Amino acid sequence: MKSYSEFRKEVINNSTSCVKNTQEILNKLDNAKETNYFLEINNDALKLAEESDKYYQKGKPRPLEGMLVGVKDNISVKGMKATCGSKMLANYSPVYDATAIKRIKDAGGILICKTNMDELAMGSSGETSYFGKCKNPYNDEYITGGSSSGSAAVVATSLVHTALGSDTGGSIRLPAAFCGVVGLKPTYGSISRYGMIPFASSLDQMGTISANVDDTALLFDAISGIDDNDSTTSNTTNNTFNTINEPLPNNFKVGLLPDDILKNCKEDILKAYSKSLDKLKTMGAEFKVLNFDFIDICVPAYIVLTTIEASSNLARLDSVRYGHRTEDIDNEEYMYLSRGEGFGIEVKRRLLLGTYYLTNDDKLNAISKAKKIRQMVKRSINTAFSDIDIMFMPTTATTAFKCNERSDDPVSMYLSDFFTTSANLSGVPAISIPVGFNDKGLPIGMQIQVNSGEEAKLFKYAKAIME
Ligand code: GLN
Repeated sequence: MKSYSEFRKEVINNSTSCVKNTQEILNKLDNAKETNYFLEINNDALKLAEESDKYYQKGKPRPLEGMLVGVKDNISVKGMKATCGSKMLANYSPVYDATAIKRIKDAGGILICKTNMDELAMGSSGETSYFGKCKNPYNDEYITGGSSSGSAAVVATSLVHTALGSDTGGSIRLPAAFCGVVGLKPTYGSISRYGMIPFASSLDQMGTISANVDDTALLFDAISGIDDNDSTTSNTTNNTFNTINEPLPNNFKVGLLPDDILKNCKEDILKAYSKSLDKLKTMGAEFKVLNFDFIDICVPAYIVLTTIEASSNLARLDSVRYGHRTEDIDNEEYMYLSRGEGFGIEVKRRLLLGTYYLTNDDKLNAISKAKKIRQMVKRSINTAFSDIDIMFMPTTATTAFKCNERSDDPVSMYLSDFFTTSANLSGVPAISIPVGFNDKGLPIGMQIQVNSGEEAKLFKYAKAIME
């Protein structure tokens, strides 16, 4: 499918229509049910497309008119399920729209499908969904990456124009890198979390997956900004699309990771990385190697902070207020039984870990150490940005790995997020852009980060580097 920007031009020129495009995509989705990329299709999509065509006919299309959007299944869309990829919520239908969903609808976007995901957003591979694994669109022996696995896959296979995902430690950027698309985790608080089922609230951030940076900016502009229903939201720029083609300065400074950190990457990633640096150099970049020796302790701190928040957030899935209920309902332990039946192994592991850290038994003092690490990461990254324009690094140390390769080794699965969690701990925006393929034909992604609130700058650089 064409990018949204091209599609929009074609509707304006009368060479296609929203109804025609939506019908085509609905047919494609119908034929793609076996992929596990998505869990539900919106039955109202054609009606919405008719509405959109009317706006075009009146010459007044709204900013996302006719854009087909896939929605990760932890984001509430009224009238559709929000299973979070879990048996626990297999029958849960939210009664209201998330703020981002309301804004997409108001801007003329069409929510076409709910996308598959790792259970409750816990995972790096797309393999922990109760509804089945997602496999890489380029080679089905490999994973898509997670946890926004379905969102990346539907964009990569042109089943939607764009998709929403959530990124707590890398869940948008990882699958975007593995599937060869653009994945944005914006500044913490830039897009409302209202209506997004939480994993770890102090790190959770909704973001976008698209085929290109223009569509990323359009969608970001439409959904970002203050929301009275989420007190952590802030007013970052939401006029990024209009400045996206402004020229970059003739000279700019790019922060890089030291070589001893990069040696964790596989050769194909390093090759693509050094090619990207060559390109940056021709664009006027001057490089500065940063002291990033805290990167090794980001994942451990991330695991402590997210598991404690998850163990408290997920307490609401108790089979009374929300969630799967065991058939053995008269058993006085029905809550225990229901949670045992409803959650998968990875979620249970995290709930146990988080509950353990929260007990006084934790002789390691893990929580206070993790909080200190988080403060240190924040400070170091803020300081780094006083002397550089952007930070540039690989999104992942490897390309997509084989299905089941890391399933029995949670530590190696968690380390898939080696290069991504620092942006969540510090809150800064980060984008993964596709830069090519390895010799097995698997996509490679590179990551750009800027200081909080600088999405407009992030998109300008991302677009220029991709061109
Ligand atoms: N892969 C990470 C995890 O499993 C990140 C998940 C996310 O960003 N939601 O915790």
